[in-house]
Amino acid sequence: MMTISYPVKNGLYINMTNRCPCSCTFCLRQNADSVYGSDPLWLDREPTVAEVCADLDKRNLSDFEEIVFCGYGEPTERLFDLLEVAKYIKQKSDIKLRINTNGLADLIWGEPTAHYLKGLIDTVSVSLNATNAEDYQKIVRSKFGIGSFDAMLKFTKDCTQYVQNVVMTVVDVVTSKEEQQKSKEICEQLGATLRIRPFEE
Ligand code: SF4
Repeated sequence: MMTISYPVKNGLYINMTNRCPCSCTFCLRQNADSVYGSDPLWLDREPTVAEVCADLDKRNLSDFEEIVFCGYGEPTERLFDLLEVAKYIKQKSDIKLRINTNGLADLIWGEPTAHYLKGLIDTVSVSLNATNAEDYQKIVRSKFGIGSFDAMLKFTKDCTQYVQNVVMTVVDVVTSKEEQQKSKEICEQLGATLRIRPFEE
Protein backbone atom coordinates (compact mmCIF):
# COMPACT_ATOMS: atom_id res chain seq x y z
CA MET A 1 0.00 0.00 0.00
CA MET A 2 1.34 3.36 -1.02
CA THR A 3 0.80 6.36 1.28
CA ILE A 4 0.22 9.33 -1.02
CA SER A 5 -1.45 11.68 1.46
CA TYR A 6 -1.51 11.71 5.22
CA PRO A 7 -2.98 14.10 7.81
CA VAL A 8 -0.65 16.02 10.12
CA LYS A 9 -2.41 18.27 12.63
CA ASN A 10 -4.66 20.52 10.49
CA GLY A 11 -2.86 19.81 7.26
CA LEU A 12 -3.05 17.15 4.59
CA TYR A 13 0.45 16.23 3.45
CA ILE A 14 1.22 14.86 0.02
CA ASN A 15 4.16 12.57 -0.61
CA MET A 16 5.00 12.42 -4.32
CA THR A 17 8.66 11.47 -4.38
CA ASN A 18 11.50 10.12 -2.31
CA ARG A 19 14.10 11.70 -4.58
CA CYS A 20 16.26 14.55 -3.29
CA PRO A 21 19.56 16.14 -4.37
CA CYS A 22 20.62 16.42 -0.73
CA SER A 23 21.46 13.98 1.99
CA CYS A 24 20.99 16.08 5.10
CA THR A 25 22.68 14.75 8.18
CA PHE A 26 19.39 14.91 10.09
CA CYS A 27 17.12 13.58 7.34
CA LEU A 28 14.79 10.75 8.17
CA ARG A 29 15.68 9.31 4.77
CA GLN A 30 19.31 9.00 5.84
CA ASN A 31 18.64 7.81 9.32
CA ALA A 32 15.97 5.26 8.71
CA ASP A 33 17.47 2.89 6.12
CA SER A 34 16.53 -0.17 8.07
CA VAL A 35 12.89 0.76 8.29
CA TYR A 36 12.42 1.91 4.69
CA GLY A 37 10.78 -1.38 3.76
CA SER A 38 8.12 -0.96 6.39
CA ASP A 39 7.90 2.82 6.50
CA PRO A 40 4.65 3.95 4.90
CA LEU A 41 6.25 7.11 3.51
CA TRP A 42 8.82 5.18 1.55
CA LEU A 43 7.31 4.84 -1.92
CA ASP A 44 7.79 1.65 -3.94
CA ARG A 45 7.26 3.85 -6.97
CA GLU A 46 6.20 7.44 -7.49
CA PRO A 47 2.45 7.91 -7.84
CA THR A 48 1.27 9.45 -11.11
CA VAL A 49 -0.52 12.80 -11.15
CA ALA A 50 -3.79 10.92 -11.79
CA GLU A 51 -3.14 8.68 -8.79
CA VAL A 52 -2.46 11.67 -6.54
CA CYS A 53 -5.65 13.39 -7.72
CA ALA A 54 -7.65 10.19 -7.22
CA ASP A 55 -6.23 9.89 -3.71
CA LEU A 56 -7.29 13.47 -2.96
CA ASP A 57 -10.78 12.79 -4.30
CA LYS A 58 -11.21 10.31 -1.45
CA ARG A 59 -10.48 13.03 1.11
CA ASN A 60 -12.83 15.67 2.41
CA LEU A 61 -10.61 18.72 1.82
CA SER A 62 -12.76 20.94 4.04
CA ASP A 63 -11.47 18.88 6.99
CA PHE A 64 -8.08 20.51 6.50
CA GLU A 65 -6.63 24.01 6.69
CA GLU A 66 -3.98 23.46 4.07
CA ILE A 67 -2.40 20.93 1.76
CA VAL A 68 1.36 20.55 2.05
CA PHE A 69 3.64 19.03 -0.58
CA CYS A 70 6.21 17.35 1.58
CA GLY A 71 7.18 13.79 2.45
CA TYR A 72 10.41 11.79 2.42
CA GLY A 73 12.05 13.58 -0.45
CA GLU A 74 12.17 16.94 -2.19
CA PRO A 75 8.77 17.77 -3.71
CA THR A 76 10.23 20.05 -6.41
CA GLU A 77 11.98 17.01 -7.92
CA ARG A 78 8.50 16.64 -9.43
CA LEU A 79 7.74 20.34 -9.72
CA PHE A 80 5.65 20.18 -12.86
CA ASP A 81 3.66 17.15 -11.69
CA LEU A 82 3.16 18.89 -8.35
CA LEU A 83 1.82 21.96 -10.15
CA GLU A 84 -0.58 19.78 -12.14
CA VAL A 85 -1.90 18.46 -8.84
CA ALA A 86 -2.07 22.02 -7.47
CA LYS A 87 -4.13 23.09 -10.51
CA TYR A 88 -6.48 20.19 -9.97
CA ILE A 89 -6.97 21.10 -6.30
CA LYS A 90 -7.48 24.81 -7.07
CA GLN A 91 -10.25 23.92 -9.51
CA LYS A 92 -12.30 22.27 -6.83
CA SER A 93 -11.31 23.94 -3.59
CA ASP A 94 -9.93 27.17 -2.19
CA ILE A 95 -7.79 25.32 0.34
CA LYS A 96 -4.32 26.85 0.78
CA LEU A 97 -1.38 25.03 -0.76
CA ARG A 98 2.16 24.93 0.66
CA ILE A 99 5.41 23.44 -0.53
CA ASN A 100 8.03 22.47 2.03
CA THR A 101 11.28 22.55 0.10
CA ASN A 102 15.04 22.63 0.31
CA GLY A 103 14.92 25.57 -2.11
CA LEU A 104 17.09 23.92 -4.77
CA ALA A 105 14.48 23.71 -7.53
CA ASP A 106 16.45 26.06 -9.80
CA LEU A 107 19.45 23.72 -9.64
CA ILE A 108 17.29 20.63 -10.11
CA TRP A 109 15.67 22.08 -13.23
CA GLY A 110 18.52 24.23 -14.53
CA GLU A 111 16.38 27.37 -14.76
CA PRO A 112 14.63 29.89 -12.48
CA THR A 113 11.50 28.15 -11.22
CA ALA A 114 9.78 30.41 -8.68
CA HIS A 115 7.55 32.04 -11.32
CA TYR A 116 5.89 28.70 -12.05
CA LEU A 117 4.34 28.81 -8.57
CA LYS A 118 2.35 31.97 -9.25
CA GLY A 119 -1.37 31.62 -8.64
CA LEU A 120 -1.05 27.99 -7.55
CA ILE A 121 1.02 27.90 -4.38
CA ASP A 122 0.13 30.05 -1.37
CA THR A 123 3.08 29.31 0.90
CA VAL A 124 6.65 28.22 0.24
CA SER A 125 8.62 27.06 3.25
CA VAL A 126 12.35 26.77 2.60
CA SER A 127 14.75 25.03 4.99
CA LEU A 128 17.50 27.55 5.69
CA ASN A 129 19.54 25.18 7.85
CA ALA A 130 22.65 27.36 8.14
CA THR A 131 23.81 30.94 7.75
CA ASN A 132 26.72 30.46 5.33
CA ALA A 133 27.54 28.29 2.33
CA GLU A 134 30.16 26.11 4.06
CA ASP A 135 28.03 25.19 7.06
CA TYR A 136 25.02 24.69 4.80
CA GLN A 137 26.85 22.26 2.56
CA LYS A 138 28.19 20.33 5.59
CA ILE A 139 24.62 19.83 6.78
CA VAL A 140 22.68 19.23 3.57
CA ARG A 141 25.45 17.58 1.49
CA SER A 142 23.86 18.76 -1.77
CA LYS A 143 24.98 17.01 -4.92
CA PHE A 144 25.16 20.48 -6.50
CA GLY A 145 27.95 21.47 -4.13
CA ILE A 146 28.89 24.71 -2.45
CA GLY A 147 26.81 26.94 -4.76
CA SER A 148 23.64 25.41 -3.35
CA PHE A 149 23.35 27.90 -0.49
CA ASP A 150 23.28 30.93 -2.79
CA ALA A 151 20.91 29.18 -5.20
CA MET A 152 18.57 28.43 -2.30
CA LEU A 153 18.63 32.08 -1.18
CA LYS A 154 17.96 33.30 -4.72
CA PHE A 155 15.06 30.90 -5.16
CA THR A 156 13.60 32.14 -1.88
CA LYS A 157 13.95 35.78 -2.89
CA ASP A 158 12.36 35.03 -6.27
CA CYS A 159 9.45 33.32 -4.52
CA THR A 160 8.60 36.53 -2.68
CA GLN A 161 7.59 37.98 -6.06
CA TYR A 162 5.14 35.19 -6.89
CA VAL A 163 3.98 33.59 -3.65
CA GLN A 164 2.07 35.26 -0.84
CA ASN A 165 3.84 33.66 2.13
CA VAL A 166 7.51 32.83 1.97
CA VAL A 167 8.88 31.26 5.10
CA MET A 168 12.34 30.01 5.99
CA THR A 169 12.81 27.51 8.76
CA VAL A 170 15.62 26.60 11.10
CA VAL A 171 15.49 23.86 13.70
CA ASP A 172 15.61 25.19 17.25
CA VAL A 173 17.81 22.63 18.99
CA VAL A 174 20.54 22.58 16.36
CA THR A 175 20.95 26.35 16.03
CA SER A 176 22.46 28.79 18.51
CA LYS A 177 20.80 32.09 19.42
CA GLU A 178 23.43 33.87 17.26
CA GLU A 179 22.59 31.69 14.27
CA GLN A 180 18.91 32.32 14.80
CA GLN A 181 19.55 36.07 14.87
CA LYS A 182 21.66 35.83 11.69
CA SER A 183 18.91 33.71 10.10
CA LYS A 184 16.42 36.42 10.94
CA GLU A 185 18.60 39.00 9.20
CA ILE A 186 18.93 36.79 6.11
CA CYS A 187 15.16 36.42 5.99
CA GLU A 188 14.63 40.15 6.35
CA GLN A 189 16.96 40.79 3.42
CA LEU A 190 15.08 38.30 1.27
CA GLY A 191 11.59 39.37 2.30
CA ALA A 192 10.84 36.03 3.95
CA THR A 193 9.59 35.23 7.45
CA LEU A 194 11.74 33.12 9.77
CA ARG A 195 10.13 30.24 11.58
CA ILE A 196 12.10 28.43 14.26
CA ARG A 197 10.69 24.94 14.38
CA PRO A 198 11.05 21.96 16.69
CA PHE A 199 13.31 19.12 15.51
CA GLU A 200 10.69 16.43 15.04
CA GLU A 201 8.59 18.22 12.38
S1 SF4 B 1 16.36 18.19 1.76
FE1 SF4 B 1 14.79 17.15 2.98
S2 SF4 B 1 14.44 15.17 1.98
FE2 SF4 B 1 16.34 16.02 1.18
S3 SF4 B 1 17.91 15.07 2.42
FE3 SF4 B 1 17.42 17.05 3.34
S4 SF4 B 1 15.84 16.66 4.89
FE4 SF4 B 1 16.00 14.86 3.54
